Amino acid sequence: MSIQSNLTIIKAQIPENVKLIAVSKTKPAEIVLDAYNAGHRVFGENKAQEMSAKFVLLPKDIEWHFIGHLQTNKVKYIAPFAHMIHSVDSLKLLNEINKHGAANNKIINCLLQFHIAKEETKFGFDYEEADAMLNSSEFENLTNIRIAGLMGMATFTDNKDQVKKEFAMLRSYFEKLKANYYNSDPLFREISMGMSDDYQIAIQQGSTMVRIGTAIFGTR
Ligand SMILES: *Cc1c(COP(=O)(O)O)cnc(C)c1O
Repeated sequence: MSIQSNLTIIKAQIPENVKLIAVSKTKPAEIVLDAYNAGHRVFGENKAQEMSAKFVLLPKDIEWHFIGHLQTNKVKYIAPFAHMIHSVDSLKLLNEINKHGAANNKIINCLLQFHIAKEETKFGFDYEEADAMLNSSEFENLTNIRIAGLMGMATFTDNKDQVKKEFAMLRSYFEKLKANYYNSDPLFREISMGMSDDYQIAIQQGSTMVRIGTAIFGTR
């Protein structure tokens, strides 16, 4: 299957209010350009230097989303052009993003990554940690970041009920934080959940952004 037909098939399955982020990590710029030439403009990467290298090579109307674990010393590579950082998992990182937002004269869109999977290895906040951060005075002073919603990854399993439960949990965290902190903020609206194997379940549970790599570009 070609990238173009994969995109067409997936787009036909996604409601209009759900954004498709084509995850192009490990794929060379020419391959990303194939998807661009098929009309796609929104791409996701999980390594800062790789995203920055592709930004330089590719058309400037691409919307770049950072989706991987981000070390504070790598924020500088993506801050000038990143449209959104999905993987914010600490106040320390948010502080650093804020600093680079200020230096670049922009407000950087961020999602708080939540740990919803059973695996120990996945990064992210739990509810209490996020709640404590949003209540802190340090957080209040961050004027060059915008929290636009939440992101999460489900357990890697064939058990669809488990995956469904985890996405429903992320949705409930979103609703709770929205009610407690962002009720009057229409820009707090994103739930980034769903990958190649589970995006249909994620959409049923209220996803607004799906991050799909393999089903578009093939195996890595
Ligand atoms: C790689 C990756 C994806 C895409 O995974 P596929 O299974 O290839 O669709 C989505 N989200 C994150 C955070 C990733 O690292």
